[in-house]
Amino acid sequence: MTTYRCKRFNYLYIEDEQGNIFENVGNDYKCPKCRASKSFFVKKENTK
Ligand SMILES: [Zn+2]
Repeated sequence: MTTYRCKRFNYLYIEDEQGNIFENVGNDYKCPKCRASKSFFVKKENTK
């Protein structure tokens, strides 16, 4: 499972939950919490 975390508000974009690979999300994607752009998200690999 791959998760992306917004550096500002720790909003988590969880690929499995959103049904969308983060890299396929448009460049106009904004964090729903703080409106930060994709560049504010950092990748976080979770291996179960
Ligand atoms: Zn955010």
